[in-house]
Amino acid sequence: MHDEREYQPEVGAEESRQARRAIARRMANNLIAEFEFANPPVDLALIVRARGLRLVESAVPGAISGQLFPSQREVFINTHDRSVARQRFTLGHELGHWEMKHYLEEELPADSQGFEGVYESEGLSEGRSPMEIEANTFAAELLMPGSWLKREGRRIAPGRAQDLARRYEVSGETMFYQLMHYRMI
Ligand SMILES: [Zn+2]
Repeated sequence: MHDEREYQPEVGAEESRQARRAIARRMANNLIAEFEFANPPVDLALIVRARGLRLVESAVPGAISGQLFPSQREVFINTHDRSVARQRFTLGHELGHWEMKHYLEEELPADSQGFEGVYESEGLSEGRSPMEIEANTFAAELLMPGSWLKREGRRIAPGRAQDLARRYEVSGETMFYQLMHYRMI
């Protein structure tokens, strides 16, 4: 007898990846709503405190930008030779790992990237890992919610994109990628 429940649609790896990235964006927007943030810059430190996480900022020479230690409820952010904008993106990324509970899937490595992995422009394996891409997608949406950007109108001139980056306290490059995602540039 034919059992309909056995039917499974073919879902390609790319589709499931897109779906998970959409979930990352939705979770970031839910967080914006939960904290009733209405204007940039998003207060990441408030989220960190509310989640009972301890933020450890310290200047350490080397490639590691940040790391989440879930069992210790600790987030490490490296301030050495990194702009505030990059540190904010890294913190958003670590919050993504926390909110999406990536640590339940596998042990999280130290993060050496800032924003480079957002759209997989770099060939580093870390940037290609689905969890890292999700954490970057989450960070981008948390720092630059699409609903806020859309208030700016449909098309953004490059000079205004730089102004927006300053207002949102993100790098010009991350703002550019986010505006590209929303087809505003
Ligand atoms: Zn990561």
